[in-house]
Amino acid sequence: MTLTEALRTLVEAEAAALGAVAAAADAAALDAAERDWLGKRSPAVVVTEAIKGLAPDERPQAGQAVGAYRGRIGDAVAARRTELADRSPGAGAGIDLTLGGHGRRRGHLHLVTQIRRELEDIFVGLGYRVAEGPEVEDDWHNFEALNIPPAHPARSMQDTIYVALGADGPEDPGAGTEHIAEHIAEHMMLRTHTSPVQIRTMETQAPPIYVVAPGRTYRNETLDARHSPAFHQMECLAVDRGLTMADLFGTIEAFARRLFDDDSVRTRFRSDFFPYTEPSAELAVSCVFCRGDGCRVCSHTGWIELGGCGMVDPNVFRAVGIDPEEWQGFAFGFGLERIAMIRYGINEIRTFFDNDLRFLEQY
Ligand SMILES: [Zn+2]
Repeated sequence: MTLTEALRTLVEAEAAALGAVAAAADAAALDAAERDWLGKRSPAVVVTEAIKGLAPDERPQAGQAVGAYRGRIGDAVAARRTELADRSPGAGAGIDLTLGGHGRRRGHLHLVTQIRRELEDIFVGLGYRVAEGPEVEDDWHNFEALNIPPAHPARSMQDTIYVALGADGPEDPGAGTEHIAEHIAEHMMLRTHTSPVQIRTMETQAPPIYVVAPGRTYRNETLDARHSPAFHQMECLAVDRGLTMADLFGTIEAFARRLFDDDSVRTRFRSDFFPYTEPSAELAVSCVFCRGDGCRVCSHTGWIELGGCGMVDPNVFRAVGIDPEEWQGFAFGFGLERIAMIRYGINEIRTFFDNDLRFLEQY
């Protein structure tokens, strides 16, 4: 057998062998094909025997051709064996069309968004409308119209993040307070509370007004367990004729009972100060977890502080052109994260902003 004959034998044998393997209808037929084309009497063995008779420089090529033939036929046999095994009944590896799928993971709303929507629903049920305003505010809406003039001490309680506009950026901190106050008055900031939405609403609508303003607010805080540079508030504003603190208290009580789904919730108001309300009060509700006995959620006081409230200061009405002799109003506000923390016993505000799915997926 010459080298050329040996190579041609293998080429022809390979074609026939692949055909036989593909045609094998069951394991027995496949075993027979394997014996015929790779076994002791197969062309592979015949050519291997013939290599001895070839010239020494031809032997490597013939040997490699035999190896390649064995490799390809061996692979084809193995592939066909797997195919036949998959097809046989009870093999377990087949396709079961009755099996369920792997499912598709669906996301859901962030806990703060859920709380916001729930509160909006409560207030809409009480006859309120949802109002919105920009997160980047000017000094007039965030401070001045709310009875917080430049250099008012209340400003330092709200550590504000100012926004530089174009080339006319914030001044050098050492430039002197007078200069800074003048500069701040014409500058923009990330709103420190949702109260500017009260101003924007009263500027564009005539009373009676009943709105809630939910949204994101910002302060210059470092993110830790209790503080966050971004957080959410909801503000409630009512302006009508003849409104009194009784209306404010009644509204808050109705809201708190819906919020905690508990008609036994009581409210507590303690004198406080806010520049934009007069009189002002700190707002607390009786602890829904221990019913006043004291527990971890209420720090063993029996009361949970929710936020602040009060009657709209006449100066605020004057700033937006509403006659305080004719119209009265009340307002209250609270933090949405705080509501969620109370309701679900969450200890750290930063968990709302970490975006750790192991936390978020629980709610
Ligand atoms: Zn308690």
